[in-house]
Amino acid sequence: MPPLIDHTTHFIAGRWSAPDTATFPDRNPFTDEVVAQVAAGTRQHAQAAIDAAHAAFPAWAAMPPGQRQRLFLAAADIVERRAEDFVRLLAAETGTASGFARFQIRWSVDLLRQAAGWGYRPAGDVLRSDTPGRFAMAVRKPLGVVAGFAPWNGAFCLAWRTVVLPMAFGNTMVLKPSEEAPLSAGLVLAEVLEEAGFPAGTFNVVTHGPGDAGPIADAFFESPHVRSINFTGSSATGRMLAERAGRALKRIVLELGGYNPLLVLDDADLDLAVNTTAFGAFFHQGQICMNTRKVLVDRSIADAFVEKLAAKTRSLPMGDPAAPGTVIGPLINDRALAQVRQRVDEAVALGARVVTGGRANGRVYEPTILVDVPATAPVSCEETFGPVLIVQPVDNPEQAMSEALATPYGLCAGILTRDAQRGLALAERFDCGMVHINGATMAGEPAMPNGGVKDSGWGRSGHYAIEDFTEVRLTTLTQGALQYPV
Ligand code: NAD
Repeated sequence: MPPLIDHTTHFIAGRWSAPDTATFPDRNPFTDEVVAQVAAGTRQHAQAAIDAAHAAFPAWAAMPPGQRQRLFLAAADIVERRAEDFVRLLAAETGTASGFARFQIRWSVDLLRQAAGWGYRPAGDVLRSDTPGRFAMAVRKPLGVVAGFAPWNGAFCLAWRTVVLPMAFGNTMVLKPSEEAPLSAGLVLAEVLEEAGFPAGTFNVVTHGPGDAGPIADAFFESPHVRSINFTGSSATGRMLAERAGRALKRIVLELGGYNPLLVLDDADLDLAVNTTAFGAFFHQGQICMNTRKVLVDRSIADAFVEKLAAKTRSLPMGDPAAPGTVIGPLINDRALAQVRQRVDEAVALGARVVTGGRANGRVYEPTILVDVPATAPVSCEETFGPVLIVQPVDNPEQAMSEALATPYGLCAGILTRDAQRGLALAERFDCGMVHINGATMAGEPAMPNGGVKDSGWGRSGHYAIEDFTEVRLTTLTQGALQYPV
């Protein structure tokens, strides 16, 4: 385990608070062992963190870009140095196998290094005015305090995404990690940023017990100092928080769930299609927002595709995420396991057939392929956050498109074809944030504008986040006397 300073404290105003008397056990989803006792924070802790972030904001916003750049680069070096600590922590706390853990660490380091330079982006525009003698500037300014909700599933890299985008553009942060990953999506970030030398109050973390996010969220929504909410999580929670943001007239960025289709056209390379699908559907045991949920495969190759995919799926190593080579680890908790079981059982009761999988060993649910799934089965349209994939043969790309578009979600999609023109023409027609031609639905580089539309939310990552975490203020200067009508 990494040398955490103390699990039972929050990080507020550059200090580890006194140990909280209220704590909860943070459990390993594979072994059920207690990884740490963690502080069960309250609204008062959140308020103290907001006050600290508010006090730190003017100096952080005014800090010269070169100075801020050095801090982000130092943080990247620390993450790189502690990589093996974080691989072990992600396995223990979130059931993440080493392949995905190492991906998350690399991704976070790259994001920190790229964001280090964003302070040098142009700060706005000089505008032409119709008024003689008027000089006008549209200047981008940070918002103030941003409150971040980080999820447990891509705990480490999504927590870094939650904080780095706002902070790189001059905002200060209060981070509330998911109760399923208070260390890897919260407290370890504080350790890194403290060691890197980020000024006190610029970054704060408040943890809370299971089911107790409400009072922390109350503090965020009711404080006039919190100017934006940066949320990653389910569409249901996002919708509820968006309603609150509307009432409080606060900005909110929503990175939500998805129901992500992969189209396999008749000219696709079969082996590439099988490998792309197995990775897209089952990596991190299907607990990534961008995992493939449904494959729409041309009927002419469907039988061969299913046979090869089933063989590949059965070969994926399952079990202890801390063991080298494991690909499929446990689901995060019993609730998640029960939902996956229920969705598969409902589909089978309605006539679906399990090609492979469909059983659990502890919380490790076998990667599962379903065919003949009726449209009435919830798994055919609702995000099921686990290793369950539907394969549906289609007669032509038109039918594939109409099936793929029949979802309220709009996160990502993939198209496999040897014909780039055909791929681009189909990609144009998707109503989602990200389409990958000849790639898995799951692809995300820190520089790219990840994000969704419709029920998958809004907001874009990479440097595109300047739109979400700054606002444009107009300043004009007029030389000479203006003529007014009164
Ligand atoms: P969730 O909505 O249950 O929880 C997300 C966060 O919301 C957690 O921090 C939780 O503590 C908080 N929360 C829950 N109830 C709350 C309430 N009543 N008030 C205030 N806060 C509350 O989601 P989850 O199950 O933790 O995460 C999985 C979901 O997140 C999936 O739907 C997945 O697709 C989505 N996700 C999306 C992205 C993306 O980038 N689009 C990335 C990762 C996960």
